[in-house]
Amino acid sequence: MSALDIGIKNDASKIWLFDYDLTLYGEEERFVLNSLDHRIAEFVQKTVGGTFESATEIRKDYLHRFGTTLSGLMAMNGTAPDDFFDFIHEPEYLIYPKVAPEKLELLKSLVGHRFVFTNGRGDWSRAGMAHMQLDSAIEDVFDLKLMDWEGKPHVSAYDKIEKWLVARGVLAQESSEKSQIVLLEDSLRNLEPAHERGWTTVLVNPNIQAPSWVDFHIPHLLNLKEKLVTNH
Ligand SMILES: [Mg+2]
Repeated sequence: MSALDIGIKNDASKIWLFDYDLTLYGEEERFVLNSLDHRIAEFVQKTVGGTFESATEIRKDYLHRFGTTLSGLMAMNGTAPDDFFDFIHEPEYLIYPKVAPEKLELLKSLVGHRFVFTNGRGDWSRAGMAHMQLDSAIEDVFDLKLMDWEGKPHVSAYDKIEKWLVARGVLAQESSEKSQIVLLEDSLRNLEPAHERGWTTVLVNPNIQAPSWVDFHIPHLLNLKEKLVTNH
């Protein structure tokens, strides 16, 4: 039995990285992501023409082939990333997650550092965290802009956040041991590069089976409580 089978040690060495969409707010609030996806499809339609339905198909195809819809738009249609985000993040078209006091309590109980690591632009997750009233529990957001628009699961995204953590003095420069970095994600595809570099992986998803390399699998963020080991 490995140490990981016991649980995640909740100690000061930990760097907790939370994906935002469908992780910090969960499957039960998928309508939040749906409101964003609707707006993304409208942007695709505005860019390539055609019907809303055909734009929705292109949105999904780009997401599948390029990792994000934006990467597809940049590669295939020459979209400027900030134009894309300025359009899709207009608050009047969006729904945000609800106030989540239990999540706040959970996040604040996590010792160490806490960041959001998201393939969106920071204004989306920051607005959502403000609605959930979680902003005081998260130190900062490492967003797609800081990844130079090439998001997870590209290896460069993980390289860049490690460098950023080193620059902030959170991660030791020469650290070959990376298991203190804990990535919580609903996407298996985005967890895989994290696993390959020795981070601790937590799949947060009630709908899929976890392969054996995933360290922990929980249906919802709040279930993280059950996986924590605290030394007294
Ligand atoms: Mg996600």
